[in-house]
Order: sequence, then structure tokens, then C-alpha cells
Amino acid sequence: MSAEAVVDLAALRGNIRALRARIGSAAVMSVVKADAYGHGMVPCARAAVEAGAGWLGTAVPEEALALRAAGITPDQARVLCWLWTPDGPWERTVAADIDISVSGEWALRRVVDAVRATGRPARIHLKADTGLGRNGAQPHDWPDLVRAARAAEAEGLLTVSGVWSHFACADEPGHPSIEPQLVRFREALALAEAAGLRPEVRHLANSPATLLLPQAHFDLVRPGLAQYGLSPVPEVGGPADFGLRPVMTLRARLASVKSVPAGHGVSYGHSYVTQTGTTLALVPLGYADGVPRHASGAGPVLLGGKWRTVAGRVAMDQFVVDLGGDPAEVGDEVVLFGPGDRGEPTAEDWARASGTISYEIVTRIGPRVPRRYTGVAEAGGGG
Ligand SMILES: *Cc1c(COP(=O)(O)O)cnc(C)c1O
Repeated sequence: MSAEAVVDLAALRGNIRALRARIGSAAVMSVVKADAYGHGMVPCARAAVEAGAGWLGTAVPEEALALRAAGITPDQARVLCWLWTPDGPWERTVAADIDISVSGEWALRRVVDAVRATGRPARIHLKADTGLGRNGAQPHDWPDLVRAARAAEAEGLLTVSGVWSHFACADEPGHPSIEPQLVRFREALALAEAAGLRPEVRHLANSPATLLLPQAHFDLVRPGLAQYGLSPVPEVGGPADFGLRPVMTLRARLASVKSVPAGHGVSYGHSYVTQTGTTLALVPLGYADGVPRHASGAGPVLLGGKWRTVAGRVAMDQFVVDLGGDPAEVGDEVVLFGPGDRGEPTAEDWARASGTISYEIVTRIGPRVPRRYTGVAEAGGGG
């Protein structure tokens, strides 16, 4: 291997169990959109189901369909898909027994058309915009949407299996938007119930709300980042503080090691110039692989037992580290990030070094980096 992302499925299962221990009788929807935040959708989905996630969540319908195509059956996991445009595909999704999020009457009409075309009833989750301002029906559109959905349900065309919403600032404890979102969600639920809807699951909580806001757990929580072992609230606590363990380790082997004299420019633009005679090591990962170009001169790696910093610019396929004269060999291991307990940096360290969030660090690891799965088999016992 020149570089690889090692994905520890045992850690992922452990994280799901740690989350389940916090949520009482609520169910877990493992959010596996965006290739499971870069970890690999199908293997992560299977591991999450093994650890007791009864639901899987995706953004676009193609992701949900890929889960069913991989053989994850409705008996194993319900799948909810929430980011729709008029092109659907609505019929294939209804036929694949995927729960569909509906944020407006236009989408409800598409679902009803698909039900008539396929002859199969659908399951939908009505989404309320309680303050995020993204998808979901505004309070003034909610009563009509609820009424139309209830009418379709009464006709036997579909079941409203969920009512839900999404937080804007659950990662900022005490943020003034949190309580009003909860209030509006309860109002949306009351209105749905008054209209005769009896949703099987009411859900609002993403990772930060799963960890910090028990009053937002309702019947189901939707953790994404936390199940991959990263903290959605690094200012409040790291993964270990929540019983979580980072799932992905990004490592590579050095592609070049050489001595250079003082005054040698390094990488495009020569933003780094060696101060003394030194050793330069070349890491075969670049921004095409998701190493942020913003981490130029800043990203940390573990190499030869020490933290080093990216020297100069991150290029498309590679970057350089200055070993300060320490010895190294071509082929030596360099770890960009991992759980952190072998002394390596974490995805959170890379997020800080490049002015972003750990979500983006793991999600952007590109398709050229092979994923290797460890902990695939459950080591004795389940649950
Ligand atoms: C991505 C997403 C989640 C998961 O968010 P995390 O912060 O990663 O837990 C939950 N719900 C919806 C609607 C999402 O889009």
C-alpha cells in the first residue's frame, strides 16, 4: 500500500453501543450519507445494524437504493432518505421499501404518483422546519401538509411513519435557538396528532443533541459524526469523554527520503525553505485525496515517533515533511490521523490545522485512498 484509510468497524459498533447507552428506549438511525462520512457506506451500515441500529439515514435517494442493492433488507434496517428533487427517483425508492422524507406538498404528490404507479404503499416522514431554514415545511405550511398527508393515509396510499426536524446549533450548548426549536417541534407534533397522524417515530437529534440534549431524543436519534468516533462538540469534550473511539486511521508509506542543503525551497511556491541541511520525506497523499490544501505548513503527522508538520504547500498528490535531520527510510509509515492513542494526531487536529471541522476531514478522504476494514467480524456475542 502507498496510502490507506483503515476503518475499525469494532470501534464503530462500540460507538453505537455507547450512544445507545445514553438514549434509553429510543432507537438509533445510523447516518451513513456521503459514503458514511468517507468511511465506506455498506460496511459501516452493516456494522451499525449489528450493533443495534434499526434505522439507516441517507441524504440522496441513490445512497438509500445502494443500501438495498447491497442486500440490506427492510427486516434488517429501515432506511430514511431526506434530500429530494422532483426527479426522484420516486418509484424505485417506493419499490425498495425506503422511507421518504416529505417537506412540501409537491413531494407528497410525487410519492402518491409513485404509489399509484407501483401499486405499493409508501412510508413517509413529514419534515418540519423548526428553525434551521433548510428543508422542512414552515409553520404556516405545516397544517396543509399534515392534512394532505393524513388524507393520503386515509386512502391507504401511504403511512406517515415519522415526523421530524433538524437542529441548527445543537453543537453550541445553551444556544438561544435550541429551546425555540424544541418548542416548535412539539407544536408541529401536536398539530400532526390533532389531525389524526400517529407517527411511529418522532425524531430531532443529530450527534450533538444525542450527546447533550436528552430532551431532544424523542423516539429515535440520528447520529452521524459521533458513531464514527469524532466529537461534534470538541469545545465540550473529546471522543473519550463521550465513550467514543475514532474509527478511521489515515496512513501512508514514504515515497522519498533525501538530504537537502540549507536554503532549499520545498513544494510549489517555495513557501517553505529549509533553514539548515536536513532530511525531507515525501508523503504520497494530497488534496485529491482530501488532505486540505489549507493545511499547508500546518497539518500534523506522526513519523518516526515524532509529530512533524507539513512543510510548504500540500499538492494534488503529495506533500513534504522536514525531518530536521532525523533518519528515515523510503517505505516508513507516516500516520496523518487516527484514534490518537499511539501518539498520532486526530482528525480534530487536522480540522484545527486547516480551519474546518472534523466532519469535513474524514468525509473528503477521496476515492483513490483504499479503505481497509478491521474488526469486521463481531468478536463473540452480539447486542
Ligand atoms: C447529516 C445529518 C445528521 C447527522 O448529523 P451529525 O451531526 O453528523 O450527527 C442527522 N440528520 C440529518 C437530517 C442530517 O442531514
